[in-house]
Amino acid sequence: MGISHKHHVINRMFVVMTLVVCMTVQAVGCDHSSTGQSAETEPSGQTVIENLASGTVADDERFDTELFAMDTFMTMTAFGPHAPEALEKAKEEILSLEALLSTGIDDSEVTKINSSGEGIMTETVASLMETSIRLWESTEGAFNPAILPVMKLWGFTDGNFRIPEEGELAAALELLDVSLVEFDKESGKVHFAKQGMAIDFGGIAKGYASSRIMEIFADSGVNSAMVNLGGNVQTFGTKPDGKKWKIAVQDPKKEGNYLCVIESDGQAIITSGGYERYFEEGGVIYHHIIDPSDGYPADNGLTSVTIVNDDGTMADGLSTSLFVMGKDKAIDYWRSHEGEFEMVLYTDEGELLATEGLKGSLTSEKTLHYIERA
Ligand code: AMP
Ligand code: MG
Repeated sequence: MGISHKHHVINRMFVVMTLVVCMTVQAVGCDHSSTGQSAETEPSGQTVIENLASGTVADDERFDTELFAMDTFMTMTAFGPHAPEALEKAKEEILSLEALLSTGIDDSEVTKINSSGEGIMTETVASLMETSIRLWESTEGAFNPAILPVMKLWGFTDGNFRIPEEGELAAALELLDVSLVEFDKESGKVHFAKQGMAIDFGGIAKGYASSRIMEIFADSGVNSAMVNLGGNVQTFGTKPDGKKWKIAVQDPKKEGNYLCVIESDGQAIITSGGYERYFEEGGVIYHHIIDPSDGYPADNGLTSVTIVNDDGTMADGLSTSLFVMGKDKAIDYWRSHEGEFEMVLYTDEGELLATEGLKGSLTSEKTLHYIERA
Protein backbone atom coordinates (compact mmCIF):
# COMPACT_ATOMS: atom_id res chain seq x y z
CA MET A 1 0.00 0.00 0.00
CA GLY A 2 1.56 3.28 -1.05
CA ILE A 3 0.99 6.88 -0.20
CA SER A 4 -2.01 8.30 -1.96
CA HIS A 5 -2.67 11.87 -2.78
CA LYS A 6 -5.82 13.76 -1.82
CA HIS A 7 -7.53 10.54 -1.03
CA HIS A 8 -11.05 11.03 0.22
CA VAL A 9 -9.75 8.90 3.01
CA ILE A 10 -12.14 10.12 5.68
CA ASN A 11 -15.06 8.52 3.86
CA ARG A 12 -13.08 5.40 3.12
CA MET A 13 -11.87 5.12 6.69
CA PHE A 14 -15.43 5.12 7.81
CA VAL A 15 -16.23 2.15 5.62
CA VAL A 16 -13.16 0.35 6.90
CA MET A 17 -14.05 1.19 10.48
CA THR A 18 -17.31 -0.66 10.23
CA LEU A 19 -15.35 -3.74 9.21
CA VAL A 20 -12.50 -3.51 11.70
CA VAL A 21 -13.86 -3.94 15.19
CA CYS A 22 -10.86 -2.50 16.97
CA MET A 23 -11.18 0.94 15.34
CA THR A 24 -12.74 3.25 17.86
CA VAL A 25 -12.32 6.81 16.78
CA GLN A 26 -12.36 8.75 13.60
CA ALA A 27 -11.03 12.12 12.62
CA VAL A 28 -13.65 14.47 11.29
CA GLY A 29 -13.82 18.05 10.32
CA CYS A 30 -11.53 18.26 7.33
CA ASP A 31 -12.91 20.65 4.75
CA HIS A 32 -15.73 19.06 2.87
CA SER A 33 -13.93 19.72 -0.40
CA SER A 34 -11.07 17.47 0.59
CA THR A 35 -13.29 14.59 1.62
CA GLY A 36 -16.07 14.70 -0.91
CA GLN A 37 -14.09 14.47 -4.14
CA SER A 38 -14.63 11.57 -6.40
CA ALA A 39 -11.66 9.46 -7.39
CA GLU A 40 -11.98 10.57 -11.02
CA THR A 41 -11.28 14.20 -10.25
CA GLU A 42 -8.18 13.52 -8.16
CA PRO A 43 -4.74 14.18 -9.60
CA SER A 44 -2.88 11.06 -10.64
CA GLY A 45 0.09 9.72 -8.70
CA GLN A 46 2.31 10.86 -11.54
CA THR A 47 1.25 14.48 -11.05
CA VAL A 48 2.21 14.23 -7.39
CA ILE A 49 5.67 12.94 -8.20
CA GLU A 50 6.16 15.70 -10.77
CA ASN A 51 5.02 18.32 -8.28
CA LEU A 52 7.35 16.95 -5.64
CA ALA A 53 10.28 16.94 -8.05
CA SER A 54 9.63 20.50 -9.14
CA GLY A 55 9.07 21.66 -5.57
CA THR A 56 5.54 22.90 -6.20
CA VAL A 57 3.74 20.89 -3.53
CA ALA A 58 1.67 23.31 -1.50
CA ASP A 59 1.64 23.31 2.28
CA ASP A 60 -1.96 22.18 2.28
CA GLU A 61 -1.52 19.27 -0.14
CA ARG A 62 -2.70 16.14 1.55
CA PHE A 63 -1.06 12.71 1.57
CA ASP A 64 -2.43 9.53 3.09
CA THR A 65 -1.07 6.14 3.80
CA GLU A 66 -2.40 3.03 5.48
CA LEU A 67 -1.04 -0.26 6.73
CA PHE A 68 -1.91 -3.25 8.84
CA ALA A 69 0.55 -3.67 11.70
CA MET A 70 0.54 -4.42 15.44
CA ASP A 71 -2.62 -6.44 14.81
CA THR A 72 -4.59 -3.43 13.69
CA PHE A 73 -5.47 -1.22 10.75
CA MET A 74 -3.63 2.11 10.72
CA THR A 75 -4.05 5.29 8.70
CA MET A 76 -1.78 8.32 8.59
CA THR A 77 -2.32 11.70 6.98
CA ALA A 78 0.19 14.51 6.54
CA PHE A 79 0.24 17.75 4.59
CA GLY A 80 2.83 19.61 2.56
CA PRO A 81 6.00 18.88 0.62
CA HIS A 82 7.66 16.91 3.43
CA ALA A 83 4.66 14.64 3.97
CA PRO A 84 5.54 11.74 1.63
CA GLU A 85 8.98 11.25 3.12
CA ALA A 86 7.68 11.62 6.67
CA LEU A 87 4.90 9.10 6.08
CA GLU A 88 7.37 6.61 4.61
CA LYS A 89 9.60 6.99 7.69
CA ALA A 90 6.58 6.68 9.97
CA LYS A 91 5.65 3.39 8.31
CA GLU A 92 9.19 2.08 8.73
CA GLU A 93 9.11 3.10 12.38
CA ILE A 94 5.88 1.21 13.01
CA LEU A 95 7.23 -1.92 11.33
CA SER A 96 10.48 -1.79 13.25
CA LEU A 97 8.61 -1.30 16.54
CA GLU A 98 6.40 -4.24 15.68
CA ALA A 99 9.49 -6.36 14.96
CA LEU A 100 10.87 -5.47 18.40
CA LEU A 101 7.75 -5.66 20.51
CA SER A 102 5.29 -8.12 19.03
CA THR A 103 4.57 -11.22 21.09
CA GLY A 104 3.21 -12.76 17.89
CA ILE A 105 6.59 -12.62 16.12
CA ASP A 106 8.91 -15.49 17.06
CA ASP A 107 12.17 -13.57 16.86
CA SER A 108 11.02 -10.22 18.30
CA GLU A 109 13.10 -8.97 21.21
CA VAL A 110 10.13 -9.35 23.56
CA THR A 111 9.43 -12.93 22.44
CA LYS A 112 13.07 -13.93 22.91
CA ILE A 113 13.17 -12.44 26.41
CA ASN A 114 9.86 -14.11 27.25
CA SER A 115 11.15 -17.52 26.16
CA SER A 116 14.41 -17.35 28.01
CA GLY A 117 13.06 -15.48 31.03
CA GLU A 118 15.88 -12.95 30.80
CA GLY A 119 17.92 -10.85 28.44
CA ILE A 120 19.20 -7.38 27.67
CA MET A 121 16.56 -4.96 26.48
CA THR A 122 17.56 -2.46 23.82
CA GLU A 123 16.79 1.20 24.49
CA THR A 124 13.24 1.29 23.12
CA VAL A 125 12.10 -1.88 24.85
CA ALA A 126 13.80 -0.82 28.09
CA SER A 127 12.04 2.54 28.02
CA LEU A 128 8.68 0.83 27.58
CA MET A 129 9.53 -1.55 30.43
CA GLU A 130 10.37 1.38 32.67
CA THR A 131 7.18 3.28 31.80
CA SER A 132 5.12 0.11 32.28
CA ILE A 133 6.58 -0.58 35.71
CA ARG A 134 5.86 3.02 36.74
CA LEU A 135 2.28 2.64 35.53
CA TRP A 136 1.92 -0.67 37.35
CA GLU A 137 2.95 1.11 40.54
CA SER A 138 0.85 4.24 40.08
CA THR A 139 -2.28 2.30 39.05
CA GLU A 140 -1.85 -0.16 41.93
CA GLY A 141 -1.56 -3.04 39.50
CA ALA A 142 -4.47 -2.21 37.17
CA PHE A 143 -1.86 -1.86 34.44
CA ASN A 144 0.15 -5.03 34.30
CA PRO A 145 2.84 -5.51 31.64
CA ALA A 146 3.30 -9.15 32.74
CA ILE A 147 -0.24 -10.01 31.62
CA LEU A 148 0.82 -12.31 28.75
CA PRO A 149 0.28 -15.69 30.48
CA VAL A 150 -3.35 -14.74 31.11
CA MET A 151 -3.83 -13.40 27.56
CA LYS A 152 -2.57 -16.78 26.31
CA LEU A 153 -5.00 -18.75 28.48
CA TRP A 154 -7.95 -16.90 26.98
CA GLY A 155 -6.59 -17.47 23.47
CA PHE A 156 -6.08 -13.79 22.68
CA THR A 157 -2.54 -14.44 21.49
CA ASP A 158 -3.42 -16.99 18.80
CA GLY A 159 -7.16 -16.63 18.24
CA ASN A 160 -7.99 -20.02 19.81
CA PHE A 161 -10.44 -18.47 22.23
CA ARG A 162 -11.65 -20.40 25.26
CA ILE A 163 -12.67 -19.86 28.85
CA PRO A 164 -9.79 -21.00 31.09
CA GLU A 165 -10.38 -23.36 33.99
CA GLU A 166 -10.17 -21.93 37.51
CA GLY A 167 -6.99 -23.88 38.30
CA GLU A 168 -5.24 -22.63 35.19
CA LEU A 169 -6.20 -19.06 35.96
CA ALA A 170 -5.04 -19.34 39.56
CA ALA A 171 -1.65 -20.61 38.37
CA ALA A 172 -1.35 -17.83 35.78
CA LEU A 173 -2.21 -15.17 38.38
CA GLU A 174 0.92 -16.24 40.27
CA LEU A 175 2.92 -15.05 37.27
CA LEU A 176 1.56 -11.50 37.29
CA ASP A 177 3.64 -10.17 40.17
CA VAL A 178 5.58 -7.38 38.47
CA SER A 179 7.81 -7.01 41.55
CA LEU A 180 9.37 -10.27 40.35
CA VAL A 181 10.56 -8.59 37.15
CA GLU A 182 14.15 -7.70 38.00
CA PHE A 183 14.97 -4.82 35.71
CA ASP A 184 17.90 -2.44 35.51
CA LYS A 185 16.97 0.50 33.31
CA GLU A 186 20.59 1.62 32.80
CA SER A 187 21.85 -1.65 31.34
CA GLY A 188 18.45 -2.90 30.12
CA LYS A 189 19.12 -6.18 31.91
CA VAL A 190 15.94 -8.02 32.78
CA HIS A 191 15.27 -11.28 34.58
CA PHE A 192 11.94 -12.83 35.55
CA ALA A 193 12.29 -14.29 39.03
CA LYS A 194 9.52 -16.81 38.39
CA GLN A 195 9.52 -19.24 35.50
CA GLY A 196 6.71 -18.71 33.02
CA MET A 197 6.44 -14.95 33.49
CA ALA A 198 6.12 -13.07 30.21
CA ILE A 199 5.57 -9.48 29.18
CA ASP A 200 3.14 -7.92 26.76
CA PHE A 201 3.30 -4.24 25.79
CA GLY A 202 -0.02 -4.45 23.90
CA GLY A 203 -1.60 -1.93 26.26
CA ILE A 204 0.94 0.76 25.53
CA ALA A 205 2.76 0.01 22.25
CA LYS A 206 0.48 1.82 19.82
CA GLY A 207 0.56 5.00 21.89
CA TYR A 208 4.34 4.72 22.03
CA ALA A 209 4.38 4.32 18.24
CA SER A 210 2.30 7.45 17.78
CA SER A 211 4.65 9.43 20.06
CA ARG A 212 7.59 8.32 17.95
CA ILE A 213 5.78 9.28 14.76
CA MET A 214 5.17 12.77 16.13
CA GLU A 215 8.95 13.10 16.49
CA ILE A 216 9.40 11.96 12.90
CA PHE A 217 6.90 14.58 11.70
CA ALA A 218 8.72 17.29 13.65
CA ASP A 219 12.14 16.24 12.34
CA SER A 220 10.86 16.02 8.78
CA GLY A 221 9.50 19.57 8.75
CA VAL A 222 5.84 18.54 8.55
CA ASN A 223 3.51 21.09 10.17
CA SER A 224 0.22 19.31 10.04
CA ALA A 225 -0.54 15.61 10.38
CA MET A 226 -2.72 13.01 12.05
CA VAL A 227 -2.38 9.29 12.72
CA ASN A 228 -4.99 6.74 13.67
CA LEU A 229 -3.34 3.56 14.85
CA GLY A 230 -6.32 1.29 15.33
CA GLY A 231 -8.39 3.80 17.22
CA ASN A 232 -5.40 5.43 18.87
CA VAL A 233 -5.34 8.92 17.40
CA GLN A 234 -2.63 11.51 17.70
CA THR A 235 -2.59 14.84 15.92
CA PHE A 236 0.41 16.95 15.00
CA GLY A 237 0.01 20.72 14.83
CA THR A 238 -3.28 22.05 13.54
CA LYS A 239 -5.01 21.35 10.26
CA PRO A 240 -3.36 23.25 7.38
CA ASP A 241 -5.99 25.99 7.68
CA GLY A 242 -4.86 26.64 11.26
CA LYS A 243 -7.99 25.18 12.81
CA LYS A 244 -7.84 22.39 15.36
CA TRP A 245 -8.43 18.79 14.40
CA LYS A 246 -11.78 17.34 15.40
CA ILE A 247 -11.63 13.77 16.62
CA ALA A 248 -14.87 11.85 16.97
CA VAL A 249 -15.01 9.19 19.67
CA GLN A 250 -17.08 6.27 18.51
CA ASP A 251 -20.14 5.17 20.42
CA PRO A 252 -19.27 1.54 21.23
CA LYS A 253 -22.95 0.72 21.61
CA LYS A 254 -24.07 2.11 18.27
CA GLU A 255 -21.94 1.72 15.20
CA GLY A 256 -21.57 4.90 13.21
CA ASN A 257 -22.60 7.12 16.13
CA TYR A 258 -20.27 9.30 18.16
CA LEU A 259 -20.07 9.80 21.89
CA CYS A 260 -18.47 13.18 21.42
CA VAL A 261 -16.08 15.19 19.29
CA ILE A 262 -12.83 16.45 20.83
CA GLU A 263 -10.76 19.28 19.37
CA SER A 264 -7.04 18.65 19.32
CA ASP A 265 -3.90 20.43 18.20
CA GLY A 266 -1.20 17.97 19.07
CA GLN A 267 -2.73 15.69 21.68
CA ALA A 268 -3.15 11.96 21.63
CA ILE A 269 -6.77 10.84 21.98
CA ILE A 270 -6.72 7.17 22.86
CA THR A 271 -9.63 4.89 23.65
CA SER A 272 -9.81 1.50 25.33
CA GLY A 273 -12.91 -0.62 25.35
CA GLY A 274 -13.88 -4.24 25.63
CA TYR A 275 -15.69 -4.04 22.30
CA GLU A 276 -12.40 -3.68 20.41
CA ARG A 277 -11.35 -7.32 20.57
CA TYR A 278 -13.46 -10.10 22.06
CA PHE A 279 -15.12 -13.46 21.63
CA GLU A 280 -18.55 -14.60 22.67
CA GLU A 281 -19.47 -17.84 24.37
CA GLY A 282 -22.82 -18.81 25.87
CA GLY A 283 -24.11 -15.30 25.21
CA VAL A 284 -21.31 -13.74 27.27
CA ILE A 285 -18.69 -11.41 25.80
CA TYR A 286 -15.10 -12.07 26.86
CA HIS A 287 -12.79 -9.22 25.86
CA HIS A 288 -9.07 -8.54 25.77
CA ILE A 289 -8.54 -6.11 28.66
CA ILE A 290 -7.82 -8.23 31.71
CA ASP A 291 -8.38 -7.31 35.32
CA PRO A 292 -5.10 -8.55 36.85
CA SER A 293 -6.80 -9.04 40.23
CA ASP A 294 -8.77 -12.08 38.99
CA GLY A 295 -7.55 -12.80 35.45
CA TYR A 296 -10.99 -12.20 33.92
CA PRO A 297 -11.87 -9.56 31.33
CA ALA A 298 -12.32 -6.35 33.31
CA ASP A 299 -15.97 -5.82 34.16
CA ASN A 300 -15.98 -2.77 36.35
CA GLY A 301 -18.83 -0.80 34.82
CA LEU A 302 -17.07 1.00 31.96
CA THR A 303 -17.76 0.47 28.28
CA SER A 304 -14.98 2.76 27.11
CA VAL A 305 -12.34 5.13 28.41
CA THR A 306 -10.78 7.85 26.27
CA ILE A 307 -7.64 9.64 27.43
CA VAL A 308 -6.51 13.01 26.08
CA ASN A 309 -2.87 13.78 26.69
CA ASP A 310 0.19 15.22 24.93
CA ASP A 311 2.10 12.01 25.50
CA GLY A 312 0.73 9.12 23.41
CA THR A 313 2.49 6.46 25.48
CA MET A 314 0.90 7.63 28.72
CA ALA A 315 -2.48 8.13 27.06
CA ASP A 316 -2.43 4.53 25.84
CA GLY A 317 -1.25 3.09 29.14
CA LEU A 318 -3.82 5.09 31.08
CA SER A 319 -6.75 4.19 28.82
CA THR A 320 -6.11 0.50 29.50
CA SER A 321 -5.52 1.09 33.23
CA LEU A 322 -8.56 3.25 33.88
CA PHE A 323 -10.79 0.88 31.94
CA VAL A 324 -9.69 -1.84 34.37
CA MET A 325 -10.20 0.41 37.41
CA GLY A 326 -13.82 1.35 36.71
CA LYS A 327 -15.49 4.73 37.12
CA ASP A 328 -14.88 5.64 40.76
CA LYS A 329 -11.23 4.62 40.88
CA ALA A 330 -10.62 6.25 37.49
CA ILE A 331 -12.01 9.53 38.81
CA ASP A 332 -9.89 9.27 41.97
CA TYR A 333 -6.83 8.61 39.84
CA TRP A 334 -7.55 11.65 37.66
CA ARG A 335 -8.00 13.83 40.74
CA SER A 336 -4.76 12.65 42.28
CA HIS A 337 -2.83 13.28 39.04
CA GLU A 338 -3.85 16.89 38.67
CA GLY A 339 -3.32 18.37 35.23
CA GLU A 340 -1.60 15.28 33.82
CA PHE A 341 -4.39 14.17 31.48
CA GLU A 342 -8.07 14.53 30.66
CA MET A 343 -10.55 11.73 30.04
CA VAL A 344 -13.99 10.72 28.80
CA LEU A 345 -15.72 7.80 30.53
CA TYR A 346 -18.69 5.95 29.07
CA THR A 347 -20.39 3.63 31.52
CA ASP A 348 -22.26 0.39 30.91
CA GLU A 349 -25.43 2.28 31.88
CA GLY A 350 -24.84 4.79 29.08
CA GLU A 351 -23.68 7.64 31.30
CA LEU A 352 -21.18 9.95 29.57
CA LEU A 353 -18.67 11.79 31.77
CA ALA A 354 -15.77 14.07 30.89
CA THR A 355 -13.18 15.80 33.04
CA GLU A 356 -13.51 19.55 33.39
CA GLY A 357 -10.27 20.26 31.52
CA LEU A 358 -12.08 19.28 28.31
CA LYS A 359 -14.64 22.07 28.65
CA GLY A 360 -14.39 24.21 25.55
CA SER A 361 -12.82 21.52 23.40
CA LEU A 362 -15.50 18.83 23.63
CA THR A 363 -18.93 18.75 22.04
CA SER A 364 -21.55 16.04 22.38
CA GLU A 365 -25.16 15.57 21.43
CA LYS A 366 -25.58 13.24 24.40
CA THR A 367 -26.25 14.21 27.97
CA LEU A 368 -22.83 14.81 29.41
CA HIS A 369 -21.67 15.36 32.98
CA TYR A 370 -18.41 17.05 33.77
CA ILE A 371 -16.21 15.63 36.50
CA GLU A 372 -14.90 18.52 38.60
CA ARG A 373 -11.80 18.59 40.71
CA ALA A 374 -12.58 17.62 44.27
P1 AMP B 1 -5.60 -1.29 24.89
O1 AMP B 1 -6.36 -1.59 23.65
O2 AMP B 1 -4.60 -0.21 24.75
O3 AMP B 1 -6.50 -1.05 26.06
O4 AMP B 1 -4.71 -2.54 25.24
C1 AMP B 1 -5.24 -3.82 25.37
C2 AMP B 1 -4.09 -4.78 25.29
O5 AMP B 1 -3.24 -4.60 26.41
C3 AMP B 1 -4.51 -6.23 25.32
O6 AMP B 1 -4.74 -6.73 24.03
C4 AMP B 1 -3.29 -6.87 25.99
O7 AMP B 1 -2.27 -7.06 25.04
C5 AMP B 1 -2.85 -5.82 26.97
N1 AMP B 1 -3.51 -5.91 28.29
C6 AMP B 1 -4.65 -6.55 28.65
N2 AMP B 1 -4.94 -6.32 29.94
C7 AMP B 1 -3.95 -5.52 30.42
C8 AMP B 1 -3.68 -4.94 31.70
N3 AMP B 1 -4.48 -5.11 32.76
N4 AMP B 1 -2.56 -4.18 31.81
C9 AMP B 1 -1.73 -3.98 30.76
N5 AMP B 1 -1.93 -4.49 29.54
C10 AMP B 1 -3.04 -5.25 29.37
MG1 MG C 1 -3.90 1.21 26.06
